[in-house]
Amino acid sequence: MTDAQEQELIDVGLKRIRHLRMGLWVIVIVFVPLVYLLVSMNVPEAVVMAIGVAWVCFGVIIELMLGFFRCPACNKYFHVRGMRGNVLVSKIFTKKCMNCGIQLKQHGFRH
Ligand SMILES: [Zn+2]
Repeated sequence: MTDAQEQELIDVGLKRIRHLRMGLWVIVIVFVPLVYLLVSMNVPEAVVMAIGVAWVCFGVIIELMLGFFRCPACNKYFHVRGMRGNVLVSKIFTKKCMNCGIQLKQHGFRH
């Protein structure tokens, strides 16, 4: 594999992390207006509750996906230092890999 191909794989991986993060933000931000909208539309409380729970589960799934995301450069957990780290206390919004230090946004950073 050439350096350029390797770099492209890393970029794709980093892009995926950014997309997942964006999805997580959207879910968090949209949650309150969504519930408000459902209530104002006279949707039965049980349905609102079910949608609310499903919504939160969806957010947790994305958070776990982020927590277990492997760094495309060093193949360790991006948000957890070391392989034995606790994903639940991982730094979900770190801007760089906790292991090799590759920047999420910087292009072409090598360690
Ligand atoms: Zn790394």
